[in-house]
Amino acid sequence: MSRQKELLAHLLDAFPPKAYSGTVATDSCAECQDLQATLGGASWWSIPGKFIQEHADHLPLLTKEAYKAFFPAWMGEAVSDPAGKTAALLLAHLREGRFASLFSQQESYAVIQVAKWIAERNGLGPDAPVNIESLAAITQRWGGHGA
Ligand SMILES: [Zn+2]
Repeated sequence: MSRQKELLAHLLDAFPPKAYSGTVATDSCAECQDLQATLGGASWWSIPGKFIQEHADHLPLLTKEAYKAFFPAWMGEAVSDPAGKTAALLLAHLREGRFASLFSQQESYAVIQVAKWIAERNGLGPDAPVNIESLAAITQRWGGHGA
């Protein structure tokens, strides 16, 4: 199995896909309505990569519960295309560590593996200072609990 397929399998393992029927986003802007229409009732594994690409920077619009349910879809897209826009935005997002405390040790471990994958393949080189700084911050924010 390629490392890429292994990582996707790891994500599926850490985040078993479940249909989410709660509120996806609370406001009425076009992006939030689009997120609600597509993600409402769906599971993260069924969301098309193209939709995630179009909403690469919209993770912060999700409610806390929807974030927990669909965050793996953004990670899956980043694993599929580590040099793409979704991956770049996700790395910055993971660095902020929003909601990191909601995730278990196993889930956080998967997040750190995805971050490493992006940093190794985002075209900047694994030795690029920005990648080193991002990984250090992500490991601290996502590795600091439950261990
Ligand atoms: Zn909105």
